[in-house]
Amino acid sequence: MTAQLIDGKAVAARVRAEIKEEVTRLKAERGITPGLAVVRVGEDPASKVYVTGKKKAAEEVGFNSWEHHPDETITQEELLALVHRLNEDPAVHGILVQLPLPKHLDADAIISAVKPEKDADGFHPLNAGNLLLGRPATRACTPWGVMRLLEEVGCNPAGKRAVVVGRSNIVGKPQALMLLQKDATVTVCHRKSDLPAEVAQADILVVAVGVPELVKGAWIKPGAVVIDVGMNRKADGKLVGDVEFAAAAERASFITPVPGGVGPMTIAMLMKNTLEAAQRAGK
Ligand code: NAP
Repeated sequence: MTAQLIDGKAVAARVRAEIKEEVTRLKAERGITPGLAVVRVGEDPASKVYVTGKKKAAEEVGFNSWEHHPDETITQEELLALVHRLNEDPAVHGILVQLPLPKHLDADAIISAVKPEKDADGFHPLNAGNLLLGRPATRACTPWGVMRLLEEVGCNPAGKRAVVVGRSNIVGKPQALMLLQKDATVTVCHRKSDLPAEVAQADILVVAVGVPELVKGAWIKPGAVVIDVGMNRKADGKLVGDVEFAAAAERASFITPVPGGVGPMTIAMLMKNTLEAAQRAGK
């Protein structure tokens, strides 16, 4: 079997087009232009690339967007003060503090300082808690984007075995909860798991570990839907995922490429979170 590719770029373009239509409506009917404020501290090169992509997407869908770019010597108090200012600014509906932050800053405290209703990333403890409880919540963008990809390829998680490799607060854990909410039977794996045995059970496999090609194609259950969240830059500059792509594609029914799979969806869902925050703010 050769898997069909899940074209995250195309799905993300559709999501952005849907958002753009909603923005036009929101402007015409209620005079509201969604606003996204992005905070990038210091000169982390990857953060610069991500923030540029996010700003471009925001402009493309018709949002106002602002980049705040303090020097990496900013203190915790100064950064908190910036977040508080953005919290109180009525033109700002979504706030995103790009991670990682320099080591002297307490990222958890900064994320917790963002008003939950302006938490564009869905990382605030209140939103994470509401997701756990099955209540309405702003969802973490990457796992929410994965759910949309599954929907797009007609993969209903109900009754299926889903295996999530990785248990980070931003991908693995919320991913497991979203799959559980859709009635999958979910297993979450980490460094102490027997990966080949667990992966072999998966009808739906989501991998978010940050280790190039950790998951071998031979472990994949024939016909599985494979979502590779990983983005790893190899020494030769090539971008690869956490799954051994070519071998996995021989066994999977659907698989995401890297790049062009999950990455574009993360940005699209960030726009969706900001749009929804603006829609709520205007009520
Ligand atoms: P993270 O916070 O570093 O978490 C990695 C997780 O993987 C941890 O739970 C860790 O287990 C597990 N892990 C690491 N090595 C393992 C191994 N050898 N066997 C089994 N489990 C292992 O990473 P993250 O932030 O979730 O990101 C994961 C990957 O996704 C990275 O490549 C990142 O660049 C990518 N990513 C992509 C997007 C996107 O938009 N496409 C968004 C976010 C992240 P322990 O808990 O036991 O340590």
